[in-house]
Amino acid sequence: MDRAADALGRARQIALACHINPDPDAIGSMLGLAGYLAARGKDVVCSWGNEPFEIPRWMSVLDGRGFVVKPKEFPQAPEIMVALDTAAPERLGMLGANAAKAAEVVVIDHHRTNPGFGSIVVLDPAASSTAELVYRLTERMGGELPDQAAACLYAGVVTDTGRFQYESTTPETLRVAAELRRHGFDHARMAQVLFEDSPLAYLRVAAGALHRLELVPEASLVWTYLTQQDLERARATMADTDDLIDVVRTAREADVAAVFKQQRDGKFKVSMRSRGDHDVSKIAADRGGGGHRLAAGYTAKSSVEESVADLVRALEASKAA
Ligand code: AMP
Ligand code: MN
Ligand code: MN
Repeated sequence: MDRAADALGRARQIALACHINPDPDAIGSMLGLAGYLAARGKDVVCSWGNEPFEIPRWMSVLDGRGFVVKPKEFPQAPEIMVALDTAAPERLGMLGANAAKAAEVVVIDHHRTNPGFGSIVVLDPAASSTAELVYRLTERMGGELPDQAAACLYAGVVTDTGRFQYESTTPETLRVAAELRRHGFDHARMAQVLFEDSPLAYLRVAAGALHRLELVPEASLVWTYLTQQDLERARATMADTDDLIDVVRTAREADVAAVFKQQRDGKFKVSMRSRGDHDVSKIAADRGGGGHRLAAGYTAKSSVEESVADLVRALEASKAA
């Protein structure tokens, strides 16, 4: 943390990136840190490595759009690059090449599967969110945190804790959230945009996915899937479906919930959640993905049927272990 504070304090130009298909902790921690550094007179630029590059709808409640550039406009060989909420270099997508050429790479993250890539690593798997870590870093560096930057960090904390529900919500998390809430921003409107703003198209896609929910009692698994065709039929986008797993995981009959979502390239991205009896980060890491003990993901190598069978075997093995 001290080394990161020192390097960021000395730099003039800072390039910030977060993981591909960003969630509010990725973008919130990035824009929050960018807003804080800009207020200290730094030249900042932000991006993430998706192509095509799309701005998520909920970003409308986060100030800092002005810092964001397309990945092609991101500095090729930054003097200092910060990777936020990024569990592995591959999660930088096309910005991985920029990180490889950066003189210094500061990694700020809370994924337990993060190998600690980068030249300065601020990694705390016990932290609720990357935004919580960024807040602690700004406290360490001192000076003023602009209201808009505080709002961005709050968005990261409130989403990654499941609105202060998950086990990662510590007294320290609540202290950070309380400090952030002192700043001037409309948290109720933010919560509405973050949590209660589904297009009908998504609700219809979710209805279809819930209709074909399957329970595998011997693995304590409940699962479903979504295809590109489902999305096309309902005119929904994959980004609309981030919350589907949060509905599936409420199934009382299983410890683990999984949603298989077909990406544009045809491969299925797997989202997993556990109520507490399984370490899904380990299952994800063994399959080239990663995450947290109770929330993790990976990209499946085969069809849904084969991938479910593979997941069932992994869950049964982890029970035996
Ligand atoms: P998701 O199911 O996409 O919401 O992801 C759950 C958690 O696992 C998040 O913290 C993600 O950052 C993490 N995660 C998902 N997919 C991957 C992956 N391929 N590699 C590393 N971490 C991942
Ligand atoms: Mn994230
Ligand atoms: Mn996070």
